[in-house]
Amino acid sequence: MKALVLEEFNGPFVSKDVPTPVIAANEALVRVRNVGVCGTDLKIRADRMGLGVIPLIMGHEIAGEVAEVGAQVVGFAPGDRVAVNFYLTCGACEYCRQGRDTLCPQVRQHGFSVDGGFAEYIRTPGVNLCHVPDNVPLEQACILGDAVATSYHAVVKRAQVRAGQTVACVGVGGVGLHALQMARIAGARTIAVDVNAERLELARELGADEVVHTGGGAFDEIIRDLTGGGGVDVLLEFVSNEQTLPSSLASVKKGGRLVFVGYVPEIPMSLLPHYTVRNELEIMGSRANSKQELQDTMNLVAAGKVRPIVDRVFPLADVERAFDALRQGASIGRNVVAA
Ligand SMILES: [Zn+2]
Ligand SMILES: [Zn+2]
Repeated sequence: MKALVLEEFNGPFVSKDVPTPVIAANEALVRVRNVGVCGTDLKIRADRMGLGVIPLIMGHEIAGEVAEVGAQVVGFAPGDRVAVNFYLTCGACEYCRQGRDTLCPQVRQHGFSVDGGFAEYIRTPGVNLCHVPDNVPLEQACILGDAVATSYHAVVKRAQVRAGQTVACVGVGGVGLHALQMARIAGARTIAVDVNAERLELARELGADEVVHTGGGAFDEIIRDLTGGGGVDVLLEFVSNEQTLPSSLASVKKGGRLVFVGYVPEIPMSLLPHYTVRNELEIMGSRANSKQELQDTMNLVAAGKVRPIVDRVFPLADVERAFDALRQGASIGRNVVAA
């Protein structure tokens, strides 16, 4: 099969013929159709997280059609349209049994250390497949595998956003634009914060009650003004860099929650025990999503409650253009490639 192979970190994607994967009894072979290009892909390619294993076929937001299933795979047959959950887990540990897939000690990810979707085919365990209903195009379905389901996990499972709360999304890029929609359907008042006016315009269109154009500067005073001086009940951080972190922390209401979803691996946050204690803040991390949460997210999208935001679709051969767009930070929603 044809595949784009990363042979060295920071190197080019090399177009090659590689053997088509052979599946085990518990696995399926999927003909890849669309793959989302995620901010994390820049970090994997540059080995900034120390998780990548080369040579590697990258791409972790995957949708396509089942080509073949192993004897132990139930519920899926060749021709089925599917999205692929990219976390490969043991299925048996304490965390897997709790549905906290991403905490599995044996976790590996498609497109990080196991081959991903920048190829004609991918093999994956049958339990990682999620049916895509006919009314959801595959070029949208692929980004559910991370951008949309990660938002669901952050808003519903981690932050546990409730009706009547005020929620700020700091960074309304590929993931934040979906988190905003999730917070809105949970009944929250939403505030979108970003440096990009076009993204904020779309955030407004998607139902954001307030938008804050930061211009890269501090925004906590604006958030406090918008919340009667108190701050937000929940702040979801999708950026977490030197510019946003101090403002984000200062924008959370006493007793409120700050949830890290996005991160810059090199930036440590200086812990502020005094401030956190005094204000009884809850600071937490939110990592991707479980298999069940991908299904829950698919149901929301199929029901028309959440709109997957895809900016452009590039042919796989033009994947570098999708990476360039990501580096420039100008995309409105996700860019996707078609394999
Ligand atoms: Zn991702
Ligand atoms: Zn496990």
